[in-house]
Amino acid sequence: MVEQIKKSIRNVPDFPKEGILFKDITTLCKDPVMFVKTVDLMAHRYIDKEIDVVVGIEARGFVVGAALAYKLGAGIALVRKPGKLPHNTHKESYELEYGTDTLEIHTDAVEKGQNVIITDDLLATGGTAEAVIKLVNQMGGNIIECSFIVELEELKGREKLTPHPVYSLIKF
Ligand code: AMP
Repeated sequence: MVEQIKKSIRNVPDFPKEGILFKDITTLCKDPVMFVKTVDLMAHRYIDKEIDVVVGIEARGFVVGAALAYKLGAGIALVRKPGKLPHNTHKESYELEYGTDTLEIHTDAVEKGQNVIITDDLLATGGTAEAVIKLVNQMGGNIIECSFIVELEELKGREKLTPHPVYSLIKF
């Protein structure tokens, strides 16, 4: 089944710029069998973990995050690009290939001691998820795992997320 899910992901060469092979999960998400199986396989890991909040990273992380949260009976918290969240936020900047980017989360999105999963569609260099770990740590959340549909293993993103456990359903 995992092989079928893997095959349902579309490769888009040179997007968003030359040299990047973009892993497009829209082809996975639009297929009801693949999408449901993906969410079920990911959620299965956390059924007994008493997850309080799933933290989803804008924007594809909202898709997998909301589905996981529903399945686990947990809440969903949104990590967004600057200026999108209406209330008080924590901010965290991280390095990109050229320059920096910033992510925000509401200061009341996670309560101290709550069990948290951080999720996104894809783990590449790990810079994005590393910033989100810092945001969750500021609120005292207990990070159970960082969970991704796809991991690009050669970029070694999981090393940046140490010591937090990292899970990915599909590895390229
Ligand atoms: P990173 O911070 O390098 O781990 O990048 C992760 C973020 O960038 C995720 O939100 C991904 O959706 C996106 N991303 C990075 N590289 C790719 C890729 N090759 N294909 C699809 N999405 C990517």
